[in-house]
Amino acid sequence: MGRIVLTAMDDIMGRPGVNATLNYAGLAERVDSYPPNNLELGFSFTELAMIQEAIDQLFGERGGRALALRTGRETFKYALKDFMPILGIADLAFRPLHLGIKIKIGLEIFAETFNKFTDQVVRLSEEPDRHLWIIERCPVCWQRTSERPCCHLAVGLLRESLNWVSNGREFLVREDECVATGHDACVITIVKKPIR
Ligand SMILES: [Zn+2]
Repeated sequence: MGRIVLTAMDDIMGRPGVNATLNYAGLAERVDSYPPNNLELGFSFTELAMIQEAIDQLFGERGGRALALRTGRETFKYALKDFMPILGIADLAFRPLHLGIKIKIGLEIFAETFNKFTDQVVRLSEEPDRHLWIIERCPVCWQRTSERPCCHLAVGLLRESLNWVSNGREFLVREDECVATGHDACVITIVKKPIR
């Protein structure tokens, strides 16, 4: 997963941008040394959070947010390629199911994937008009403090996953509560009705 995030950052920021971020974050040892392509837990929450914080500091809150959202979207594309064979959901987007059911199945499988292959802990909750993606142990803001919710990478990843599972629809996905702002969990709201 760490390798996927860094590779996605390469695509969005270019290798020089990634190297500058890693150096700024105090992670010079990661420059040109991404985790190997396996499922071992070889990339720490601390590293991921330090990289996110460095992006915010280097590019400003708005610029950093935009970069992290795009990186999150790109991360999902790689994750899909690498995890598809394991998950057995290659055809989920094409199954003749009601959109709402596909979204629900997709979210459940994505949450399971995080819980199984990373130390992240995610659970889902549902209200009539929205799903809540509740990250009880969040790597994106790990040991960070922030005035505003800052898990943009997770928001971007969810937006792209919903875009994939719905064959190109866009959904309102927004982080409403964040551990970095003092809440117990990072709570991301997904409004069920697509915005386009
Ligand atoms: Zn978080």
